[in-house]
Amino acid sequence: MLAAVIFDFDGVIVDSEPLHYRAFQKVLEPLGLGYGWELYVAEYLGFDDRDAFREAFKSKRRLLSDSELERLIGLKAEAFLEIIGSGVVPYPGVIELIREISGALPLAICSGALRSDIVPILRQFGLEGLFDVIVTADDVTASKPDPACYRLTVEKLADRFPHGGIAPERCLVIEDTPGGIAAARAASLAVIGVTNSYPAGRLTGTLRIVTSLEELSLHDLHLLR
Ligand SMILES: [Mg+2]
Repeated sequence: MLAAVIFDFDGVIVDSEPLHYRAFQKVLEPLGLGYGWELYVAEYLGFDDRDAFREAFKSKRRLLSDSELERLIGLKAEAFLEIIGSGVVPYPGVIELIREISGALPLAICSGALRSDIVPILRQFGLEGLFDVIVTADDVTASKPDPACYRLTVEKLADRFPHGGIAPERCLVIEDTPGGIAAARAASLAVIGVTNSYPAGRLTGTLRIVTSLEELSLHDLHLLR
């Protein structure tokens, strides 16, 4: 029995990785730490802001203090808000799927993005308030592939729906990255992979792989659990 559905955010609901990339470069380039999109996809995609900044400094053998890290995260959040202000497009089918699940089953987001990145985009899409639980980089100390964020999401769903039969093996996750899939699997969750960011061959360990969420309905999700 399917008890809840958990969406990753970047690369599943919105094609925000190019927007995050632009925001990072806006902060890093003046410091001489900029890098190309291919490197971002290969090395940085899936990291939260904290780990991405740490890695950018480490790769150039530069030191980064905790206070400077916090300052850069703030600058990147500002740059991101400015970038999304010009409009963001959701992936095909995702809004329809979220609306179909909302109200029928407990629904959550588990993301390595900041809450301040996610909420304005949900508002733009008219999805604010449809998610019962939203766990973000603000809530955990380690980013995916660490399973902490998925464990916390399940805990929060179980608190919110004490009679909902919420247990890891009764939840379905929708993810787009190998790191995200690893995090969910390490938290004992089953995963549907969507090939928005990586080819199917990289999304191993999933119950099913789709090329677009247009291929999925609530009925399909019930059949998978
Ligand atoms: Mg993602």
